[in-house]
Amino acid sequence: MQRNDYQYAQAKLDQLKGEYQVDILADWGHGNPDPDEWRPGTWTKAELDRLHSTLCLVSDLMGGNEKFVRNLGGVTVRKADIGSHGGEALSHRVSFSTRRTFSAWTVVHEFAHAWDANHGWRLSRQLERFTGGYTSPLLALTKRLLGLADCGRFGPEKNPGRYGRRPGCNKAGYFYGDRPSGSNWNFNRLEDFAEAVAMYVGWGRDNELSQHAHNRVIRYQLPDLEKDPFNVVDRWTYYSRHFYPENGDYTKTKRWQFVDDLVCGRLQVS
Ligand SMILES: [Zn+2]
Repeated sequence: MQRNDYQYAQAKLDQLKGEYQVDILADWGHGNPDPDEWRPGTWTKAELDRLHSTLCLVSDLMGGNEKFVRNLGGVTVRKADIGSHGGEALSHRVSFSTRRTFSAWTVVHEFAHAWDANHGWRLSRQLERFTGGYTSPLLALTKRLLGLADCGRFGPEKNPGRYGRRPGCNKAGYFYGDRPSGSNWNFNRLEDFAEAVAMYVGWGRDNELSQHAHNRVIRYQLPDLEKDPFNVVDRWTYYSRHFYPENGDYTKTKRWQFVDDLVCGRLQVS
């Protein structure tokens, strides 16, 4: 943060607090005891703006600020050294990496985790059930050992078609149901929920997440071994039956329906 953005940043912090009960742990500011000294911290003005505009999107889809606050129950946001992750979330707390900036997609993803956490991680369990998925590490291991998985016996391999994307072919033994927009070795019901919310916010709209959401789906129409918009090479035609939605329309998936029901209050939240 630059010194002459100080006032702007303070106003933004007040706004985030007032509208969404979101507190930013500011790491910038004037020195103490020397107020002429300036600590720039790791946040930028653009990041505060991105955070705010992204929360506006989410809040609008939820039906307004009050609903957002009820769903999330107040969140503190900080920058921290969290290793190779871009973000992390617990109930009432979201962390972004100090190593690189965050995208609007990451904001929605992490706030979705915080939303799930605020409900005892039951939203992702509901999503798992709603989409017909289940978690069974034992069955997953058995399939791997029998050579029935699209990965190696002990984990993913660095080859197209062997990264571990099919149902159950992940660390958690998560057999996702219906069609998520993608899956990898770290996929589980928590990640599924967070990604489903981000897809819902972006899909078929005209916002910061829309291109990303679109790219997630169109890659399954690429020829095999071609690079997708995320620079990944894979066997796209092979995976299309797991991930490509009916007629390429993501709103036809159970995940889209689940998040739509959730934000529109049609689902009983336990
Ligand atoms: Zn996540």
